[in-house]
Amino acid sequence: MKHFCSSSDAALMGQKSPIHMHQVHSDVVDVLEDGMGPFQDGVITQRRDVALVIRHADCQPIVLYDPGREVLGAVHAGWRGMVSGIVQVAVRKMESRFGSDPSRLEVHIGPSLCPNHAEFKNFLTEFPPAFHPFQIRPHYFDLWAITKMQLVEAGVHLHNIRVERVCTLCGSGNFFSFRRDKTKERNVTVAFLG
Ligand SMILES: [Zn+2]
Repeated sequence: MKHFCSSSDAALMGQKSPIHMHQVHSDVVDVLEDGMGPFQDGVITQRRDVALVIRHADCQPIVLYDPGREVLGAVHAGWRGMVSGIVQVAVRKMESRFGSDPSRLEVHIGPSLCPNHAEFKNFLTEFPPAFHPFQIRPHYFDLWAITKMQLVEAGVHLHNIRVERVCTLCGSGNFFSFRRDKTKERNVTVAFLG
């Protein structure tokens, strides 16, 4: 797992084929080796000649990496994807398909809505009861903590989960935010096996 942040990374990225997802807030995670898509909200692979691309503006970009089996996963998780447990689907598929041990996975949750901006007025109908304890004040939820809970339930170790804790809405990174601007623009998270 690498961050796309240096010129050497950019050069490496340039040699890899970008794999885009047709993100529809599903819980579908595809194995890249099984075909060329169209992919939905999650892709896992062992291929080193590709870069997995997540487009997001407030939803969570989640990158999963198995350093033992050299498996990479990329997931787009908005609240619908969280409700349907897409990150758990990804962990299970890495395990069943590539033999990944969930306890060895390293997971990175990228820029997305912070607890102060994750407002869900209709949470009683939209969220399952398991999410309700993560309400930090009326109608506001710690979505990062919910994803961490889901990952731990799937067997990932808490100390292997890194939350960037940068908010697309209020963070200083000039991110695109759908909630703030109703924009069609998206931030991009790129992950590849180096
Ligand atoms: Zn915020």
